[in-house]
Amino acid sequence: MDLDYWWLLVIPVAFALGWMAARYDLKTLLSESANLPRSYFRGLNFLLNEQPDQAIDAFIEVVKLDPETIELHFALGNLFRRRGETDRAIRVHQNLLSRADLPVKERDHALFELGQDFLKAGLLDRAEETFRSLQTGDHALGAQRSLMTIYEIEKDWNKSIDTARRLETMGAASLEKEVAQFHCELAQEALQQQKPDEARRQITLALKANPQNVRATILSGDVAAAAGEQKTAIAQWRKVEEQNPAYLPLVAEKLMKAYAALGQQEEGANLLTTWVDRYPTNDLLDVAYQHVAALRGPDAAHALARTQMQKSPTLAGMTRLLEAQQATAEEPRRSELDLMRTLIKQRTKNLPRYTCQNCGFRARLFYWQCPGCSGWETYAPRRIEPMAAAS
Ligand SMILES: [Zn+2]
Repeated sequence: MDLDYWWLLVIPVAFALGWMAARYDLKTLLSESANLPRSYFRGLNFLLNEQPDQAIDAFIEVVKLDPETIELHFALGNLFRRRGETDRAIRVHQNLLSRADLPVKERDHALFELGQDFLKAGLLDRAEETFRSLQTGDHALGAQRSLMTIYEIEKDWNKSIDTARRLETMGAASLEKEVAQFHCELAQEALQQQKPDEARRQITLALKANPQNVRATILSGDVAAAAGEQKTAIAQWRKVEEQNPAYLPLVAEKLMKAYAALGQQEEGANLLTTWVDRYPTNDLLDVAYQHVAALRGPDAAHALARTQMQKSPTLAGMTRLLEAQQATAEEPRRSELDLMRTLIKQRTKNLPRYTCQNCGFRARLFYWQCPGCSGWETYAPRRIEPMAAAS
């Protein structure tokens, strides 16, 4: 017990040290701020009050009065860029860089900011050139990250892979997810150019980088289907269930096509109804419903829609259920059901959307890379009704 008492001494000593440090900081700040013009504080005030226009005017005044203020150049450049005035941001940073006496650290910082200006302005060549000049120093890692962004925009997937690998050797967090997606992009291109061997090579590399990558598995099914190997294609697409069943709606229609090509629609319909039962989502139901209705008639389709509604009630599921009831109903009930279905359909016409879990961007189509925030695999592979999304 006695041994623990020394801790009681540590607490007041720590307080005293903290107080002295705060006093020292305050003194330095006050002596430094005495050298700053009043416009600087006016600008700061405007900035804190979110009045960027007035802040810019005030800061321009300071830069005129005291051209030595490097930090202020950076603040001003950033403000211009954030407001979309990239030409002015570029001028501010180029003005800094033209100084012969600029220390290396500040020079690197200015180059990095200039690269960001070019990137924001869409001047990708100049941005690339600027970032490539930052191989060492504090901004080397940030420059490589920006280079990866540029190569992604340019869809130069080989350079994207090289840059991701370089970033990892520089100590950045793992980029396996991104690298796997870059290989998938290359596989997709090869598939479009009818180069199946190259597509398969890229798929192997994608799965090596990230064995969880569902897109690579889907693509290997696509490559087999393109070569007319329907059985292999089916085997590949079915692997998605083990890998991540959430992505099954993306392969449901492809699977049914392959089963149809083999004349085994019944097997396909069986598989789909099992999936709807295990993983109830509207996207799976949509595909299964159409095929079950065509193959087994309205009663079977009705039973499928009813089970789905009991498990996961949604407006889209409700329209399916009404459609099923309508198919077997007599007049005048048939017209009533039609009216209800039309009304609900009008309300839900544009509703279900894929939604980015990172930035909330909503889209009709499924994207592996979000068009809003450029994040990879940020879309859940199911369309969500906004009411469900809100709750
Ligand atoms: Zn997004």
